[in-house]
Amino acid sequence: MKTGQLFPLVFTCTRRLVHAHAAACAPIWLSVDCCHTCCAASAPTVFSTPLARAGTLLTLHMAQNKPNAFMAFVADWRAFNRFGRGLSTSEAVAKCGPIWEGMSDRERGPYKSKAKDSNVLERESKTERLNCLGVTISKMQVEKNEAIDADLQMKRNIKRIVLKATNSMKLEEEEFLFVSFNYFTKALNGDVYQPAELSACRFSLKGGISSNYSTMINPGHIIFGQTSDAQDHSRTTHKLPLPPNAMGEKNLGNLYSDTLKWLSASNDEEDGQHDHPVIVYTTPELMPVVKSCFRYLACEGDTDKHAEKIMVYDICYLFLTLKKTVLDLVGVPNDHMNIHVTNSFFRRDFFEFSSGIACDYHEKVDRTKYCTKSMVLRWGYMISLYICGDLAIPLQPRKHVPIEVKHSYTVTPGDSSLALDGTSTDSGYSGY
Ligand SMILES: [Zn+2]
Repeated sequence: MKTGQLFPLVFTCTRRLVHAHAAACAPIWLSVDCCHTCCAASAPTVFSTPLARAGTLLTLHMAQNKPNAFMAFVADWRAFNRFGRGLSTSEAVAKCGPIWEGMSDRERGPYKSKAKDSNVLERESKTERLNCLGVTISKMQVEKNEAIDADLQMKRNIKRIVLKATNSMKLEEEEFLFVSFNYFTKALNGDVYQPAELSACRFSLKGGISSNYSTMINPGHIIFGQTSDAQDHSRTTHKLPLPPNAMGEKNLGNLYSDTLKWLSASNDEEDGQHDHPVIVYTTPELMPVVKSCFRYLACEGDTDKHAEKIMVYDICYLFLTLKKTVLDLVGVPNDHMNIHVTNSFFRRDFFEFSSGIACDYHEKVDRTKYCTKSMVLRWGYMISLYICGDLAIPLQPRKHVPIEVKHSYTVTPGDSSLALDGTSTDSGYSGY
């Protein structure tokens, strides 16, 4: 029997027959596609194999499911392979077996290290307290601290961007990118969203919405067999048809390249450097969706090295920072201004039912509220409405507001000090 050789394996749990593949001399490769708790509880489990028919019984203990190099490779392969995502664990194991056999020791090295690390963590977990999901308390604490650090870093960066624009007297012209995604479904056991629609727009206080980019996405299939969830999500939100009947771009690699090119355009033109990360803004609720959808698209392309080039920031914090900075600029006290005040205004979403700002499909099916194009434009309109008055910037239809509206302030041309007469700290929108 050759180490690493695969042979079909059949075993019976108390409820059903399960087919899988195991490796001779390395039965710990086994990944069982059986979720019955009876199997997990009844160790040792007896597996009958072709060898068993020859009179040999292979007894595997559940402890053998501990992490190993091959399974680390399978996990990696599934994460970065478009077909892998649609396979169950046992199918992926069968598919990866021949690939693994053909790999050299050097190629297997990183996976062996990963398995070793996982084993160490597993040993540690036996001595540490776990939460109800089996995650160690210390690991949870580390993740929590990392999230807090990342949030602080993001807020520092937003302040730095706004301050830099203010110091160079270009705050009104500073462009911000807003991005939103609709998704078909979210993986049950991971932070993976399958993208359905993408929209982005460029916004500045002076020019309002200067351009936008919008596309439907057809990923080809629904992942993880979650068609029912995807149908339910679509019916209650964006109403987009599911793959394989989904509309839009099928080549996700090209779509990602085009999107990255569009997003990077202004950055590259300004400083001539192409390595700067692109910063996009979205709502706090959509941040995990946007991050995950960009990762999803990136891994469909030739390489995912550009995934890190897109950084996703909180638009609500940008709104607060802009408002406070603008009030400072015009000499209005801003002590009362905090994230709750700006959030309360932002969430009013005055233009939720405005026509003519969504894509053709969502206008037709009357789901403009959920259209990503409508979302990103509405964010720009809300920020314009609340801040442009302080800077005496007239609201232009389709740029700062979707339609011709009556301003709640007046702009007096001429001397700049007179131009601030209409400044209002609460810039209420009286049209709605
Ligand atoms: Zn749409």
